[in-house]
Amino acid sequence: MSDEEALALADLGHGELGPLLERAAATRDRAFGKALTFSPKVFLPLTNLCRNRCDYCSFRRSPGDEGAWTMSPSEVEQELDRARASGCVEALFCLGDKPESAFGAYRQTLASMGQESTVEYLHFGGKLGLERGLLPHTNAGVLTREDMVRLKEVNVSLGLMLENVSDRLCQPGMPHHKAPDKRPARRLAMLREAGELRIPFTTGILVGIGETRRERIESLLAIRDLHRAHGHIQEVIVQSFRAHESTPMAEAPGPEDLEMAHAIAMARLILDDDVSVQAPPNLMKPGDVGWLLRAGINDFGGISPVTPDYINPRHPWPHLAGLAAACVAEGFTLGPRLPIYDRYLDEPGFLAEALRAPALEAKARLARGLALVSMSAPQNSSPLAPPSLQKRLPLAAEPS
Ligand code: SF4
Repeated sequence: MSDEEALALADLGHGELGPLLERAAATRDRAFGKALTFSPKVFLPLTNLCRNRCDYCSFRRSPGDEGAWTMSPSEVEQELDRARASGCVEALFCLGDKPESAFGAYRQTLASMGQESTVEYLHFGGKLGLERGLLPHTNAGVLTREDMVRLKEVNVSLGLMLENVSDRLCQPGMPHHKAPDKRPARRLAMLREAGELRIPFTTGILVGIGETRRERIESLLAIRDLHRAHGHIQEVIVQSFRAHESTPMAEAPGPEDLEMAHAIAMARLILDDDVSVQAPPNLMKPGDVGWLLRAGINDFGGISPVTPDYINPRHPWPHLAGLAAACVAEGFTLGPRLPIYDRYLDEPGFLAEALRAPALEAKARLARGLALVSMSAPQNSSPLAPPSLQKRLPLAAEPS
């Protein structure tokens, strides 16, 4: 789809969406067939300290705030052990942005654990995951080239939501005004550098934070262009904004279903066929699976049998069996995948050589069906947070 055609589709009325969705679904079917995927993961929120203040976020804390945390190495190990026992293959490290640049107390915490920096702590945590057969994927906000070189040693992929390319969203009164790391140029630069470093990469857009449709489409076009230059974007998340109490955007409405359908369909039609399009099912309503599929998604992202979505703890993961049944009702299968897409396992330079054996071993485990068997157990009927963190859960938030 040309840039001109994509931008022209910004003006489609809700009543005109039918043909767009049909075209997106046909594109998905051609590229991915009727096979939907998800990644069985454990969510490790290494710290919720963050130097940014996005208007929609209730995840972030400053040191001393109620609910502020930094996971200790033993907490990390405890979670990794539970994950391996439950059939997970992905260790997702997700945390606030550049906390040591803003908080002396956090620098002291790192030092007390023998860590020089957050990146070194992530490297340490990544090794712990690999020792247990789990494949690390890290989203730590904006990273330098040197940070990414270091983390590529122990991560099969990295992530950073682009969210949007619009500088307008950083102006006074807009959601990213107090978030220096949300400047689009910084995020685009990191995505480009990740491509130069041949790092399989996950990114995405956040829908409903005050952006226009045109800005959304321009964001997708920017991601497509980066992928065409470097071939590293493995998946694009189309994430729905959800309002949370105690945030400046507590009263903001989330996007309507038809608006999300338009965004998903545009992602499918703009991005090249080798890029997966994903929507997190826990941020949608029960029963939304049908229209998500009709809009063109082929993936549900990470789903955890052992941890909540710490970023959105009031939005539990769907029960896997229920999700699978909903997919089957629409004529699709649902199966687990690795946090690195298969094509990067063999493409030269995209996977650190030392990670090849753990990745192939994890793939073999998935092929034997162990993850699906374990994840059929009820997930949301019992406390999901690790005991050490249960009292410290934030109310809700959106991701870095
Ligand atoms: S959304 Fe991410 S970058 Fe923004 S305040 Fe929250 S944790 Fe920090």
